[in-house]
Amino acid sequence: MNYLVVGSGLFGAVFAHEAAKRGNKVTVIEQRDHLAGNIYTKEVDGIQVHQYGAHIFHTSNKEVWDYVQQFAEFNRYTNSPVANYYGKMYNLPFNMNTFSEMWGVRTPQEAMDKINEQRQEMAGKEPQNLEEQAISLIGRDIYEKLIKGYTEKQWGRKATELPAFIIKRLPVRLTYDNNYFNDDYQGIPKGGYTQIVEKMLDNENIEVKLNTNFFDKKDEYLKNFDKIVYTGMIDKFFDYKLGELEYRSLRFETKEKDVDNYQGNAVINYTDAETPYTRVIEHKHFEFGKGDKDKTIITREYPADWKRGDEPYYPVNNERNNALYEQYRDLAEKENDKVIFGGRLGQYKYYNMDQVIAAALESVKNEFGE
Ligand code: FAD
Ligand code: UDP
Repeated sequence: MNYLVVGSGLFGAVFAHEAAKRGNKVTVIEQRDHLAGNIYTKEVDGIQVHQYGAHIFHTSNKEVWDYVQQFAEFNRYTNSPVANYYGKMYNLPFNMNTFSEMWGVRTPQEAMDKINEQRQEMAGKEPQNLEEQAISLIGRDIYEKLIKGYTEKQWGRKATELPAFIIKRLPVRLTYDNNYFNDDYQGIPKGGYTQIVEKMLDNENIEVKLNTNFFDKKDEYLKNFDKIVYTGMIDKFFDYKLGELEYRSLRFETKEKDVDNYQGNAVINYTDAETPYTRVIEHKHFEFGKGDKDKTIITREYPADWKRGDEPYYPVNNERNNALYEQYRDLAEKENDKVIFGGRLGQYKYYNMDQVIAAALESVKNEFGE
């Protein structure tokens, strides 16, 4: 078979790799001037710079963890971001260190008593939105200082208008453990992420074309290929004919600083409402300070509204958008047995990398039946 893969992010790369391994011909087209989608990293001053924001690989899916080891060796990095709220620092995720910094409590029982007292305002109520979910999880103090400002900047809307699931991504624990994730496996690929996609696509059956947009020759591609794996925006594929899905965009501001260690941590979140950025990343800390000793690279992440033509970094998975996505998915199933829609944009899901690999391997199974 002759496959066209639209997009060289993780979904497209896993699918292309598996299809080529089975002897199929694959053409990968990518509109950007580089491979790897949003996991792209580039070396500057000996430092792997995460060009599209901090990417930490974490999973409890053993199959996915074993799979990705074929393409890189991972270090033991554990994400432990720190929050800066008007200059006061708090450990994340919400754990005994945070509770101690917030309330001066020392034991899990003292912390639990404080949280329970704060949760009272939600007693007996089922949380209907992110604000209510956060208060019922952790209480108002933490909500006001560490969640509200960050969340409303990140999503450009009130926490009362956001789905509760977004905040459930973050662990809450009564131990002094600053690991941001609960997963069994975690790390950063030594030497960056781009190599993973390069190795996946290094096959004589795969041809890669950068700076190539699917929509410049959509009809021709649909005619000339047996099958298409499309990892761009699903609403755009159908020329927005059922309406526009909403996305959230970002602007990254990257700077070189003439110091060895700028902020002492890979990720610092700015959780107040006034600071216009949400996070500052210092890239060298993902690899324990590897790189030049008198230089460091930092990136400020500014949330931004999305309009057509901007980069759609996040789907906004509220009820309205999920319902519209379902309609597009039905349309995709009815009209297009030639096209497989995959990845964060093709499936309109707030996927992490491990979930994208799992989804791509699932598509491979459906396609090749094993
Ligand atoms: P993408 O990486 O977006 O790839 C899609 C590709 O398709 C892009 O290269 C795009 O240019 C191309 N494309 C689109 N339309 C066309 C077209 N018409 N023609 C040609 N090419 C096209 N996940 C984690 O697990 N851990 C993290 O710490 C983490 N941090 C993140 C931080 C940020 C700021 C963001 C935005 C995401 C983060 N993620 C993280 C999620 C992770 O980036 C995604 O799960 C993963 O990269 C999605 O892969 P994909 O292939 O679906 O999409
Ligand atoms: N969040 C927050 N304060 C923080 C970090 C995260 O309120 O300091 C909320 C915010 O709503 C964010 C969500 O938790 O969108 C998920 O955070 P995560 O770090 O998983 O976001 P991502 O890395 O996907 O942007």
